[in-house]
Amino acid sequence: PQAELQQQEFIFRSKLPDIYIPNHLPLHTYCFEKLSDVASKPCLIDGTTGKIYTYEEVELTARRVASGLNKLGIRQREVIMLLLPNTPEFVLSFLGASFRGAIMTAANPFCTPAEIVKQVKASSAKLIITLASYVDKVKEFAKDNDVKVMCIDSAPEGCLHFSELTQADERDLVTVEIERDDVVALPYSSGTTGFPKGVMLTHKGLVTSVAQQVDGENPNLYFHSEDVILCALPMFHIYGLNSIMLCGLRVGAAILIMQKFEIGLLLELIQKHKITIAPMVPPLVLLIAKASETDKYDLSSVRMVKSGAAPLGQELEDAVKVKFPGAKFGQGYGMTEAGPVLAMCLGFAKEPFETKSGACGTVVRNAEMKIVDPDTGSSLPRNQAGEICIRGDQIMKGYLNDPEATARTIDKDGWLHTGDIGYIDDDDELFIVDRLKELIKYKGFQVAPAELEAMLIAHPDIVDAAVVAMKDEASGEVPVAFVVRSEKSQISEDEIKQYISKQVVYYKRLKRVFFAETIPKAPSGKILRKDLRAKLATGNH
Ligand code: AMP
Repeated sequence: PQAELQQQEFIFRSKLPDIYIPNHLPLHTYCFEKLSDVASKPCLIDGTTGKIYTYEEVELTARRVASGLNKLGIRQREVIMLLLPNTPEFVLSFLGASFRGAIMTAANPFCTPAEIVKQVKASSAKLIITLASYVDKVKEFAKDNDVKVMCIDSAPEGCLHFSELTQADERDLVTVEIERDDVVALPYSSGTTGFPKGVMLTHKGLVTSVAQQVDGENPNLYFHSEDVILCALPMFHIYGLNSIMLCGLRVGAAILIMQKFEIGLLLELIQKHKITIAPMVPPLVLLIAKASETDKYDLSSVRMVKSGAAPLGQELEDAVKVKFPGAKFGQGYGMTEAGPVLAMCLGFAKEPFETKSGACGTVVRNAEMKIVDPDTGSSLPRNQAGEICIRGDQIMKGYLNDPEATARTIDKDGWLHTGDIGYIDDDDELFIVDRLKELIKYKGFQVAPAELEAMLIAHPDIVDAAVVAMKDEASGEVPVAFVVRSEKSQISEDEIKQYISKQVVYYKRLKRVFFAETIPKAPSGKILRKDLRAKLATGNH
């Protein structure tokens, strides 16, 4: 009986039945499968200019972009980088890359030149599509390494213009044989440990993930073709790319693209375009919950407000519900490596599903979830917290050029270990209670402690360092450092903060630096981050 007990596996599945998922199709074919039904409908609405692109136009232009990429010499399975804010060109470039059988990696354009170049190198990107104002960040590296730079707004010296792609002849595009395990998107994520790594998301993976969210029997479950979806979250993050853009395309909805975030403009756009779906992250929920201007706008068109990418407190949830009286509110839970969606709220659906406050959904269809005791590795029953693991066709193929990191994350039975701690209750709802992994989330953006620690240790005055998360009302979490100075060093907190600020994008800047005698470590050399977090919590630093 002992052995039997040890072998018992508690596996959780969706309350809804599995569905048919056509994941043999390439991603673009899947997204445009119902093109004839929606050809003349608005697909993309540029929030800045008001320009509308119909489904027919988007599909045709994406094929032209693919043909143009081919003409430029971008081969199948080669990588292009998008260094762009949310724009119609972002969508067209990604879909074009998919048609070409190429791979898209995206970076936040606010990143520093060093951060961007690191990703260009790691991903072996052959072309960077950007705005003229960001060209300086990559110009030198591109010139020395034979990487092409293209701008969507103008063509500064030495750069190509996006029209080279959109004006190509789609008939010149040779048919490419795309295999379902071919990679199509390569977002960067630090996962459970270490530095950012290229997450290989395949055609099969993304088709499966989108289908899990929007396909199937109940068309009212999530999105439908009459929806107008707000895209205020960045498409260079997988949440915007998959759960907004790809899901919107699949159902034939209109996607309102917001390039620059500003609260007044956001509210105006909701009213003007009668937005029905408003995907958010907790800091955006906070902004809206606190905004007094909300009274001046008619927000009654919104039927669904979603939050994901970071934990959301119950008070905030209640506060935002008041602002959208006509909407259902629910959370989703994602992780780049998981494709990204692991769980979604079912409360959006018609009866009988209601969602509990604080829950981040129930596991998606066609997937398995288990909760594992981090110490023993055995799976746990309901109501017991442990590491959340997921298995299914939607998860990543692995990390690019990093089989060790892949093996640490996806075990031999195909389970992806998230590094998040949570439990599943009697109604199949998932609650996240803690994070086992190092990752820090500033407004939903990833901050990898390993990256900041490497920079700190490289400073001649610093002997050792550890970076952990500190709770913050506006941003959720902020990175703070514990630093051991070299013997005679007088280096100050401000000097260290400035030293880091110069090297990183704004959300990785250190909020505080605390000086310490030593950094607590396990015999293996692993930083005892829990101890440091506990120090912060008690104010004893
Ligand atoms: P990323 O890969 O950038 O999407 O980050 C994934 C991580 O964000 C997850 O592993 C969680 O730690 C966190 N996260 C995402 N969604 C939620 C949520 N609804 N509640 C709490 N944490 C979340």
